[in-house]
Amino acid sequence: MDDEAQQEKKTVVRCTFCGEPLKRDDMVRYRGAVACRQCAEDAKKQQERFTSPVFFTVGGIGALIAGAGSIGYILSRLLPLPQWVVSGFTLVSVGLALISLGNLGLYFNWDRKWGFFLAALSLAGCFGGLVFVQNYIALGPAPYLEEIPAIYPLSLYIFEGGLYIMLAVNGALMVLTRDDHGIELLTLATAGAMLLASAIFYLLLPAFTLHSIYFLTAETETIGP
Ligand SMILES: [Zn+2]
Repeated sequence: MDDEAQQEKKTVVRCTFCGEPLKRDDMVRYRGAVACRQCAEDAKKQQERFTSPVFFTVGGIGALIAGAGSIGYILSRLLPLPQWVVSGFTLVSVGLALISLGNLGLYFNWDRKWGFFLAALSLAGCFGGLVFVQNYIALGPAPYLEEIPAIYPLSLYIFEGGLYIMLAVNGALMVLTRDDHGIELLTLATAGAMLLASAIFYLLLPAFTLHSIYFLTAETETIGP
């Protein structure tokens, strides 16, 4: 009996959060970690404040809007028609604004650094796209301008750069964080929706671009002397 009591003293279990030794009655588990009741309750409250799925739902809706807008985006690359440029770029920009809310959810739920980085990227992309639309409406298509103001191509670079880098980082995070951090399911769904929406766009865009370059150069050759 003495040995058993001594053994119990040696293997005293402590709370993962505050380090206090735990009595059997006071011991609970919080996400697998041994904790005292107080710490588990505090951690749960903290978690509930930030795990609102609203962020991710909004981000997912944004991804779908951006996906729908990307069809106009593709068409605007093929045919320089104002309606496709304006509607496509605007929809993708609005989608990006909503996606940045989803990324804020990532910031609160899981990773402050990457969540912030992604939210900043999508927001930058959104502003770039809207500035481009504004330029397009005010100045018309770039190829027909004698002098293109720097803000015109710059807005396009910010728009596309934000979009591309954000998608690349999201894809990388999905792979890298699968096991280590137990990334939230809804984050995964948001990222998945974004990648799905972009798949149509990014797989087809290089092909369409090459195709249009082919036709544009072919036409120039026929017209030329
Ligand atoms: Zn504790």
